Amino acid sequence: MEDIRTILIKHGFSFKKQFGQNFLTDGNLLDAIVRDAGVDGQTTVLEIGAGAGALTRALSAAAKKVVALEIDRTLQPVLAETLAGCENAEVIFRDFMKADLPALERELGAYRVVANLPYYVTTPVLMRFLEEAARCEGVTVMVQEEVAERFTAAPGTAEYGAVTAAIALKGEAVITRRVPRTMFYPRPNVDSAVVRIDFEEGRIPVKSKSAYRAAVRCAFLSRRKTLENNLMNAFRIPREQAKAVLSEAGIADMVRGETLPPEALARLADVLCGRGIVT
Ligand code: SAM
Repeated sequence: MEDIRTILIKHGFSFKKQFGQNFLTDGNLLDAIVRDAGVDGQTTVLEIGAGAGALTRALSAAAKKVVALEIDRTLQPVLAETLAGCENAEVIFRDFMKADLPALERELGAYRVVANLPYYVTTPVLMRFLEEAARCEGVTVMVQEEVAERFTAAPGTAEYGAVTAAIALKGEAVITRRVPRTMFYPRPNVDSAVVRIDFEEGRIPVKSKSAYRAAVRCAFLSRRKTLENNLMNAFRIPREQAKAVLSEAGIADMVRGETLPPEALARLADVLCGRGIVT
């Protein structure tokens, strides 16, 4: 096959910055990402953003099946060429954020997500899998390095936030490799990293996932305030009730939400739920 850049030029493709189009071309790196993701002949892969198809092609060589969503229809002739002969790969031209995920999951069965994610929509895409997916067994995604640091941050650090806590409910995020900006075409202004999260249902048990989400929102409502104050503001409860909630959850007075590990946020969620403050 010709070089991806040559194929893009041949088809007169113009890059659309608003879609986060920074493509990978290096065969060794692509194979390494496929390995990082643990894809083998039994794996069905959902890729978000096929781009010029370089990762799709590498995935197709290792996986049972690959379904890739791509928002930009003008990539169709490019993909027809780069994915020629990849019988187990299918590209659907659709905006993932508007896609019917349950319908996609009915078609896929159990699957893993592997993607070099468009930067402008990284967190919303990940949140859809964390909160809405039923058959997803894990995600391996290339993201901006600073976003990868947030995904994998320890409690109490500046990078630890609502997304970190949301991930923790499903699995442990691990950076599998750092990828310099020079590996992308066109070259972005930041370096990237690959993050893998294996989903493990019930990893941190909670009575209600929506209560956990509410507890996390509350914990990070105002990072400079104590959790007690955030509880009062988020749920419009008096100080005495906020103190009672914290005590029942085994959380010390005067603590800030951002220092709480996910297990403590889960206890807080269960108490909020048990007391009927959230559902
Ligand atoms: N997978 C290719 C690679 O690694 O070279 C392309 C990665 S590029 C960073 C991200 C791709 O996602 C672009 O092709 C872009 O057009 C596509 N994209 C952006 N927003 C999308 C969305 N909401 N749904 C589906 N694809 C999207």
